[in-house]
Amino acid sequence: MSFTEPKTLESLSQRDKKHLWHPLTQHKLHPDMLAIAKAKGALLYDEHGKEYIDGIASWYTCMYGHCNDFILNKVSEQMQRLDQVVFSGFTHEPAVRLSEELIKILPANQEKLFFSDNGSTAVEIGIKMALQYHYNKGEKRRTLLAFENGFHGDTLGAMSVSSLSVYNGPFEDLFIDVERIPVPTVESIADTLKTLDARLQRNDIAGFIYEPLVQGAAAMKMHDADGLDQILKLLKQHKVLCVADEVMTGFGKTGKNFASDHIATKPDIICLSKALTAGLLPMAITSCTQEVYDAFYSNDMTKGLFHAHTYTANPPACSAALAGLELLRSEEMQTNIQRIIASHRQFDDEVKDHPKVESTRQCGVIFALDLNVKMERYGNLRDTLLNHFMDNGIFLRPLGNTIYILAPYVTSDRQLQKIYDSIRSALNMV
Ligand SMILES: *Cc1c(COP(=O)(O)O)cnc(C)c1O
Repeated sequence: MSFTEPKTLESLSQRDKKHLWHPLTQHKLHPDMLAIAKAKGALLYDEHGKEYIDGIASWYTCMYGHCNDFILNKVSEQMQRLDQVVFSGFTHEPAVRLSEELIKILPANQEKLFFSDNGSTAVEIGIKMALQYHYNKGEKRRTLLAFENGFHGDTLGAMSVSSLSVYNGPFEDLFIDVERIPVPTVESIADTLKTLDARLQRNDIAGFIYEPLVQGAAAMKMHDADGLDQILKLLKQHKVLCVADEVMTGFGKTGKNFASDHIATKPDIICLSKALTAGLLPMAITSCTQEVYDAFYSNDMTKGLFHAHTYTANPPACSAALAGLELLRSEEMQTNIQRIIASHRQFDDEVKDHPKVESTRQCGVIFALDLNVKMERYGNLRDTLLNHFMDNGIFLRPLGNTIYILAPYVTSDRQLQKIYDSIRSALNMV
């Protein structure tokens, strides 16, 4: 049996409109979707053959390049051996090997891995671990702490801890109990610690969830590592579990394997997804310390973590992650990461004094600049910028008045220069 090709000559963009509902889209106000036909390395190709440099690595996933042959081969071998099996009662080699390899590069206190499918579920599980950890110990701690302007995903629990979701209106009354603190700055950290210390005396906070060093959806806002370290230290003194959401920052983007590697105090729980599987298949992991795991380890069934997703530890996804880790640790990829860091630094030196640039910032391969013009998150000027980049064959996705680059590690020097050129011409346009 095969599907009959539609007889019309309508483009994919036209056919798309009939039955598809896209994320983050108000369809009544949105132009047609662009159909992407294929991708390779740092490039996307649309259905008409026009190429675009993927300047945001398709939401920070395919860091080793699209359709990477090494990863494709490993995954297709795995797919022919074992496609899918229940992970409750069974185990398999890709998951076991991935656990061994990932634990080697995670912060040293991480011991156990719990699988799921996407960044939001990794966060849901992190939240549930933090809440149930205290519950299992007979302590009543039901409030969570999070940073202002954080983003942790779009499922209900993850939405509750995010403050950024601008369109949360219909759900706000249903959210779990969350209190917020500002991200640390050198000027504000003393006040933050004082207020926090007073608040912690009530012993009712279960966990603190944070994007370490870089808040992605907040437009790549960056904060002080030393200040974050002091916050984590204080929270740990008060037995608050620290949950690092490294869904965006993980796997080399900050110049180290994980953003938490820049900070002395290590998280109790870490959420991973996005680049975990090198952009090939959806998967997520929530890792934790032995101490967290031990709070669930009991002769009492009800103390277990009774959470599951059907595709938990999907074998091909595990093999994509294993291949990705091998690439991340290769000398070639580490050299690429350093090359991009140095390249962005040079570009930064050049644009930071441009009259249209308010400020610039960089953390590892993440580079962002704020325009000194007023813009709405999804307004007209934002669309003009987006179209300018796409016309130039560059896929960048400005957030508010921020233009940022988070390109795959395999982006060549020439491709980087093309991205910079299109940003230069955008600056002269706004
Ligand atoms: C993208 C993201 C999420 C959500 O991940 P999804 O896979 O989109 O559900 C959570 N936290 C951070 C920091 C993210 O960047």
